[in-house]
Amino acid sequence: MSNLPNCPKCNSEYTYEDGLLLICPECAHEWSLEAEEQEENAKVVRDANGNILNDGDTVTVIKDLKVKGSSLVVKQGTKVKNIRLIDGDHDIDCKIDSLGAMKLKSEFVKKI
Ligand SMILES: [Zn+2]
Repeated sequence: MSNLPNCPKCNSEYTYEDGLLLICPECAHEWSLEAEEQEENAKVVRDANGNILNDGDTVTVIKDLKVKGSSLVVKQGTKVKNIRLIDGDHDIDCKIDSLGAMKLKSEFVKKI
């Protein structure tokens, strides 16, 4: 009939669409294809104001941040271009002109 995915519960191939839901007639499982897709890239990184950050964004640092393991400080107001989102405690990978490559926490930056 179409290229709908098999039922994730019983693997039946007789699934059909009903609005936004997919329904399995064999085990009565209902699910949303859209929700599943969103879950796969569900990791959303937000700045201090709750705005969603994306790779390539430019942000400013909202407070002085000591760089772990060094005497360097990333000053409040430092502009950070072209951030890259990563997994982990520090979820922003970036390069700051005067300081070099480092990792920041999204809660201490805000998007410009
Ligand atoms: Zn099923």
